[in-house]
Amino acid sequence: MLIVMKAHATEEDVRQVCARIESLGFRAHSMPGAQRTAIGITGNETELDPGTFDEMSGVQEVIRVSKPYKLVSRDLKEEDTVVRFANSDATVGGDEVAVMAGPCAIESRDQAFTTAEHVARAGARFFRGGAYKPRTSPYSFQGLAEDGLKILAEIRDRFGLLIVTEAVDNESLDLVEKYADMIQIGARNMQNFSLLKRAGRSRKPVLLKRGIAATLEEFLMAAEYIMSEGNYNVVLCERGVRTFADHTRNTLDLSVVPAVQRLSHLPIIVDPSHGTGKRNKVTPLSRAAVAVGADGLIIEVHPDPDRALSDGKQSLYPDQFVQLMNEVRQIAQVLGRSVAEPVANPAARQTAGSAAAR
Ligand code: PEP
Ligand code: MN
Repeated sequence: MLIVMKAHATEEDVRQVCARIESLGFRAHSMPGAQRTAIGITGNETELDPGTFDEMSGVQEVIRVSKPYKLVSRDLKEEDTVVRFANSDATVGGDEVAVMAGPCAIESRDQAFTTAEHVARAGARFFRGGAYKPRTSPYSFQGLAEDGLKILAEIRDRFGLLIVTEAVDNESLDLVEKYADMIQIGARNMQNFSLLKRAGRSRKPVLLKRGIAATLEEFLMAAEYIMSEGNYNVVLCERGVRTFADHTRNTLDLSVVPAVQRLSHLPIIVDPSHGTGKRNKVTPLSRAAVAVGADGLIIEVHPDPDRALSDGKQSLYPDQFVQLMNEVRQIAQVLGRSVAEPVANPAARQTAGSAAAR
């Protein structure tokens, strides 16, 4: 159920409605919008009587939500969600197309710093890199764990990049939350419900990747799990799904971008690296992703892809990433959006809050 407040409803009205919801044993999710506040109600395995709220001060309408997802839905919030970060003016879901770039895995301090400098110069505002890697083989490189996270935190301090990195279980999430700016939930964990709930209790924004064979509804329900715990800063990521096609690693489903945007207020970005698995297809699909209206891109870049410990074949050389940025910058402009400009000396640009200040 969803309660739409009147445009002139006061904060006290909203507070009273939330208190009534909580007193009945449900959870209230207040979502202020440009015109009015809507309050989502979750936890209702049992039916709630709409009459309970009809006569309360400031209430305009009580709506029964028939869709299985509530908090992710545009019914609850008409305007696009813009995800913001502490101590940075970078956003996901605003006018600027967010670009996240970096290696698949953090392999060493040198590798990470070299890549970070390149992607920051080209205009990326977010640095990606796994410290915990979910690998198909248990014998493949599994990531540097906390040592990798420490390198990532240093990169934030040095280049002013926001850090996006994956948590593979509740234990790693505790650490990722401490060091990173955004918690990535990988495709293989899209339906790891206890991990989704844990991410929902975090105060850091979450990047939720689409499962390898997830339908749109399953994808949105996974986001609903995170939001139902109170974390409303969720960014969806299309990263390709498994199909019969074998000319690419996965089939990048760009049609999901407008499909999500129709149903949900959450931002959606595209990962053409895992979506194609092939370096030569990453730039063309990045162009297409921006053209289709994606709110951002997440791209694998490696200074020496042939020696990468994971996903070398889909990792761009740094100069290819520069070219990609130049191209998507022009495409974004056609759509009234922007991509951050190159930065001559990223080491001089610092986010105000370095790890020390957190
Ligand atoms: C990654 O981003 O490196 C990754 C493992 O992605 P996915 O979960 O989409 O496979
Ligand atoms: Mn990867």
